[in-house]
Amino acid sequence: MSTLLEVSGVSVSFDGFRAINNLSFQIGDAEMRAVIGPNGAGKTTFMDIITGKTRPDEGRVLWGEKSASLLAMSESKIAQQGVGRKFQRPTVFEDQSVADNLMLALKKNRSPLAVLFFKPSAEDHERVESLAAEIGLAPALSRKAGELSHGQKQWLEIGMLLAQEPRLLLVDEPAAGMTPAEREQTTDILVEAAKTRAVVVVEHDMEFVRRLNCKVTVLHEGSVLAEGSIDHVTSDEKVIEVYLGR
Ligand code: ADP
Ligand code: MG
Repeated sequence: MSTLLEVSGVSVSFDGFRAINNLSFQIGDAEMRAVIGPNGAGKTTFMDIITGKTRPDEGRVLWGEKSASLLAMSESKIAQQGVGRKFQRPTVFEDQSVADNLMLALKKNRSPLAVLFFKPSAEDHERVESLAAEIGLAPALSRKAGELSHGQKQWLEIGMLLAQEPRLLLVDEPAAGMTPAEREQTTDILVEAAKTRAVVVVEHDMEFVRRLNCKVTVLHEGSVLAEGSIDHVTSDEKVIEVYLGR
């Protein structure tokens, strides 16, 4: 598996406080990775650095076959490279149907002029249907997004990100506020998505992380404290001390 993203020696301080401290991290092309760690460990800041929202004081963030530096790119340029990010709060269009939300997300791949004269092709409709199936919303295609449950809205937003065909999908605490059944379906959706792209999931829920069945990176005070299987990291003394034992 070739490396898609390589973060090395990255540090960032806010008013003298080192939120990210000499952090290094790599992820491969079609890899699922869970990132865990106590509150304030730097998980969200780490995602902010990858997406260009926060600029590090030092270090490198390299992307793709050509090892292009993401640090030299604007947030929108980074998104164009194939970095998709899901925030905690869903931002779907509540008055539009599930199908229309997915169709709008497809449109974002087009030039402004093409969007202006956009008329969905048969292929676009097929793509919307297959995206809906991927996120378990095929039976809800014609429903208004505003009528969906919290969990379903989260899936719709994941579907809207998948419509952009990102090579790397960043997801921050997707299971928050979900029912156990919704959590389970969310793991299924993410595991499926990670078959064809890299997915980084920040999550607190250990059962959720266990079901992702992937390598886990533990962050603490802005650095990697441990990395490996869930059983490996949860039996690590340092991890138990700072995170699990609290
Ligand atoms: P996590 O997501 O792991 O809970 P964060 O990345 O949100 O942690 O935050 C890491 C640390 O950096 C925290 O102490 C937080 O208060 C601080 N921090 C994050 N963003 C900013 C900011 N824009 N300005 C000042 N401090 C920040
Ligand atoms: Mg956070």
